[in-house]
Amino acid sequence: MSKESYYVDERGYYGEFGGAYVPEILYKVVEDLRHAYLPILESENFRQTYHQLLKDYVGRPSPLYYARRMSEKYGCRLYLKREDLNHTGAHKINNTVGQILLAKQMGKTRVIAETGAGQHGVATATVCALMDMKCEIFMGATDVERQHTNVERMKMLGAEVHPVRTGNMTLSDACSAAIRDWCCHPEDTYYLVGSTMGPHPYPDIVARMQSVISEELKVQLLEKEGRDYPDYLVACVGGGSNAAGTVYHYLDDSRVKIVLAEAGGQGVDSGRTAATIHRGTVGILHGSKMLVMQTPDGQIEEAYTISAGLDYPGVGPMHCNMARKGRSKVLAINDDEAIRAGYLLTRMEGIIPAIESAHAVAALEKIPFRKDDVVVLTVSGRGDKDVETYLKNKQMAGEYGNF
Ligand SMILES: *Cc1c(COP(=O)(O)O)cnc(C)c1O
Repeated sequence: MSKESYYVDERGYYGEFGGAYVPEILYKVVEDLRHAYLPILESENFRQTYHQLLKDYVGRPSPLYYARRMSEKYGCRLYLKREDLNHTGAHKINNTVGQILLAKQMGKTRVIAETGAGQHGVATATVCALMDMKCEIFMGATDVERQHTNVERMKMLGAEVHPVRTGNMTLSDACSAAIRDWCCHPEDTYYLVGSTMGPHPYPDIVARMQSVISEELKVQLLEKEGRDYPDYLVACVGGGSNAAGTVYHYLDDSRVKIVLAEAGGQGVDSGRTAATIHRGTVGILHGSKMLVMQTPDGQIEEAYTISAGLDYPGVGPMHCNMARKGRSKVLAINDDEAIRAGYLLTRMEGIIPAIESAHAVAALEKIPFRKDDVVVLTVSGRGDKDVETYLKNKQMAGEYGNF
């Protein structure tokens, strides 16, 4: 009897999702990576350097904070996993620190990356400065304008930023541009993917880099609750990396329920949404078989959400499989619900979350908790970058918007 597993199989698939659908010119470089990554990640040298950097550079372990007032409100025991306190302000640095070591080990001299809101671009430019690597970031021209501060941060860190003017000029187009660049320079260039997406082995690499989140949860929960697992894990999903890290060491533990929040935008049926698991159909995007928002003849549809970090028309293969098999429950959270939840956490706990993370907070209202349920919610990032958006939309925040 084979047990259902939610981890990647040896062919690079999660159920029917995943794989490596790449142009012929990238076949060799993706194969090289597939052969190289596990021996490197499991080597003593890598593990030591990686964990040292996570501790001294990123500031890990990130705290697990018992949110007293929010616990009373929702009738459960709510803990917040504080990825917002990491260096550069989100979980993304866990992944870039690991992949830059992998790139070095593989002898690469140039790093490219895509970015939407600019968070992954900043996290990549940061570790490239740290490791003295040449860094080029692809970013949709629309996003370059919308996320001006992050563009300046990347430049200050020494990265070259390429505005991408094809398609809608947003994240999906930046991914395509990065892949095109990679096709031209497969030998010396390492493509540092920012979420659990892309061709195998990237979804597995990123999930492993982020799995430090649930590794720490086990220790922290044991210390605080006397058992190393929660009743619920809650996280937001864009490409799926902070959620993957949050659930990684609990995937096959059926005592732990998984609730994920994707971006509903103005509503899943409004035509302006990024709720890919609700609206998507099976297709291939950026090298991987996944759920994609597309027209009946396979043209990619534009995603919309107030949250730049969740604005992607696809979602990583691990999450497609978990959702299809019922391992996770995925809720679509609309813009107004996320804004209200962001204000709520701000006023009740003194934590301004990234709008991405606020989607996870909004999910709390929709889960029927029992009083003693232990709930862990990952606050994927801090909200400094979103203050303007919060203010512009404070009419959505109800009582908290009156100031
Ligand atoms: C990028 C980002 C996300 C979405 O990416 P995932 O890969 O789904 O985690 C969520 N929260 C923050 C703060 C981000 O910067």
